[in-house]
Amino acid sequence: MQLIDIGANLTHESFERDLDAVLERARAAGVVQMVVTGADRAHSPRALELARRHPGFLYATAGVHPHHAVEYTDECDAEMRALQEHPEVVAVGECGLDYNRDFSPRPAQRRAFERQLQIAADLHAAGRSKPLFLHQRDAHDDFLSMMRNFDGQHGPAVVHCFTAERRELFDYLDRDWYIGITGWLCDERRGAHLRELVRHIPHERLMIETDSPYLLPRTLRPMPKDRRNEPAFLAHIVEELARDRGEDVTLTAARATATTRTFFGLPG
Ligand SMILES: [Zn+2]
Repeated sequence: MQLIDIGANLTHESFERDLDAVLERARAAGVVQMVVTGADRAHSPRALELARRHPGFLYATAGVHPHHAVEYTDECDAEMRALQEHPEVVAVGECGLDYNRDFSPRPAQRRAFERQLQIAADLHAAGRSKPLFLHQRDAHDDFLSMMRNFDGQHGPAVVHCFTAERRELFDYLDRDWYIGITGWLCDERRGAHLRELVRHIPHERLMIETDSPYLLPRTLRPMPKDRRNEPAFLAHIVEELARDRGEDVTLTAARATATTRTFFGLPG
């Protein structure tokens, strides 16, 4: 199996002491490429640095997560635009709206999201389109209406770590967006509904991710003592996903990998 983790927060401090071992275990588990999430002003440049240290294996996104929306100043916008000049940066984001925890006030979230959508639109208009790496939690209606303002002005878009319900899923698929599935699927307390929903995602819209170090799959055995999720566990997530879709795991994996390479423009 060849797997690609489209959401790995490898600049997180929990990976500082043993990143090389983490990357080695990922390779051993079949993870052939990863997209390192850039989710704020400090970590987006570090995601690029990591990608540059591991050419062909790691890629990066550059963006500001809604939790950090208050830091989205003009200087921050200039930094995000500069990061997009690097070929190792393969997406605009992580950006979007999160009304679940409201770590940044909602008006600030909407402003930061809009400015990042504008970056994607400007790149697209300049013929240098990059995909959007999107986050949405409990903000579906505002999210859709903001995205609607940029209809036809951006490249492909993925709603990463999809955790929502049928209505949201079909709204995204109707708009030809892509869906990222994490180990949330393995959470019997809050992800049980996804077990049925994932059958409805066409393979050409489906990608997989760990969102590590977050979202350790609850069905993983043995559980790591430190409860840290890592890219090697993507193999477990795709097994669970394939079972729920009624597919052979090698087929689910191969199709997700092909879809991911096309989406981000990664080499085979
Ligand atoms: Zn997210």
